[in-house]
Amino acid sequence: MISRILIVRYSALGDVVLATSVLDPLRARHPEAQIEWVTDPLYAPLLEGLPHLAAVHRLEKGAAAAVLLRDRLARRFDLAIDLQNKLRSRLIAGAAAPQRITFRRRSAGRALLALFGNDRPLARAHATQLYAEALAPLGITGPGAMRIQLSRTARAVAADALARVKAPAVALAPGARWATKRWPAERFAAVADALAAQGASIVLAGGPGDREAFAAFRAAVKAPVAADLSPLPVDALAAALARVQLLVACDSGPVHIAGAVGTPALSLVGPTSAVRWGPLPPGRALTLGLPCSPCSNHGGDTCPEGHHRCMADLSPERVVAAARELLG
Ligand code: SF4
Repeated sequence: MISRILIVRYSALGDVVLATSVLDPLRARHPEAQIEWVTDPLYAPLLEGLPHLAAVHRLEKGAAAAVLLRDRLARRFDLAIDLQNKLRSRLIAGAAAPQRITFRRRSAGRALLALFGNDRPLARAHATQLYAEALAPLGITGPGAMRIQLSRTARAVAADALARVKAPAVALAPGARWATKRWPAERFAAVADALAAQGASIVLAGGPGDREAFAAFRAAVKAPVAADLSPLPVDALAAALARVQLLVACDSGPVHIAGAVGTPALSLVGPTSAVRWGPLPPGRALTLGLPCSPCSNHGGDTCPEGHHRCMADLSPERVVAAARELLG
């Protein structure tokens, strides 16, 4: 009998949001179970208040915080689902419950090959399907919808940030954690100018790590930026993305937030797999489909081929055309 379940997934933003797709099938399979989740304090506001979850535990950075949380959660659960599969998640999940399920990106053979530098990107299915497959021992066969919580406060902050924005509003998120996943911010600016000329309001989106991209975007853009969402906390960013008509972004966390709130996202995908990381409908990925792509599971600092054509050859005109299609 499984009556208490702990899910562990604390990074990164997009993965946490994608992992919420296990909640509906898990709830359907175990309607009476109490489900709790361990995540990074930054992302906790997206999960707190979800009707699926009885509690959200915040895991601070560092090994000491993981040991503290491990001791707090030890033996309190029947089942621990480790969707992170890192040292800290294994520590917490291992102590939390006698029965454990762990998301494994690679088979044992592939893990061995990866040690010798042969780490072929996983690209056979969408990330939500891969998480669902990890839960196959529970009889779960497919993912549910992604679920995040938009609190009343987050909605109010978002409404305030977008107070002067008229529809159709297009949010542009030029940042991405890894250099190879970034499309030049100057080209985002060209897309903004073209869409603004056709009547769209331009909204800047992203997080604190995207400052360089924001600066380059602002230096190049001619159209007025009607709102800047970059200072908002993540739950208010989510509430704001729920109110725009389209998001254009690199393969990054905001794409999956948009997916969870039902806003179409146009994701510019280069080194990573569009099959695994592309937005679910109504969004779509735009990729050049080069023979060298995907070359990486999560992106990297430099192009292994040295030319970075997956992004360099993607023209603003192509992005504008795809954006217009999604805007209808
Ligand atoms: S190897 Fe190909 S897919 Fe990878 S970063 Fe370079 S151009 Fe892009």
